[in-house]
Amino acid sequence: MMLIAVYPGSFDPVTNGHLDIIHRSSRLFDRLIVAVGRQVSKNPLFSSEERVEMLQAVTADLSNVETESFDGLLAHYVRKREAAIVIRGLRAISDFDYEFQLALAIKKLDENIETMFMMTNSEYSFLSSSIVKEIASYGGCVQGLVPPLVAEKLRHKYQKGH
Ligand code: ADP
Repeated sequence: MMLIAVYPGSFDPVTNGHLDIIHRSSRLFDRLIVAVGRQVSKNPLFSSEERVEMLQAVTADLSNVETESFDGLLAHYVRKREAAIVIRGLRAISDFDYEFQLALAIKKLDENIETMFMMTNSEYSFLSSSIVKEIASYGGCVQGLVPPLVAEKLRHKYQKGH
């Protein structure tokens, strides 16, 4: 049986914290699908196409990882992709409430799907896409927080004033 896992998120944009979770989980499963949520309600800085492209570029060396966007309910998407596992990352206690709710909601919709949590790498425990955007928007240096390609895209975005 092929073990397929889905790692869903906004990835607006992908950070080194996300990338660490992707690397580590790609070693545990036959296939890892990174799924970019299209929810416009979150008012993302990057379009879903841009977010997918950045993820594809920075995971190009991982042969069992693929990225695509999705909308609708995560539980439905996971089943459609014949996956059985959802991966989420945990940084601090503050992540717990939301992650707990999400995992229970998925379970309610499909009891065959398991949500698994991966603890952040201590180096990235403070890192989030929002922090990265905040730093980049004021012209701060995001080196070491995101892959170089993402740093470049951020620079471009904020130079153009969105
Ligand atoms: P969402 O909007 O769905 O929370 P994010 O793109 O912010 O999407 O995050 C996707 C997942 O990655 C979440 O489970 C989040 O907790 C996790 N994550 C984000 N940043 C880190 C990090 N630095 N270390 C570990 N996990 C992280």
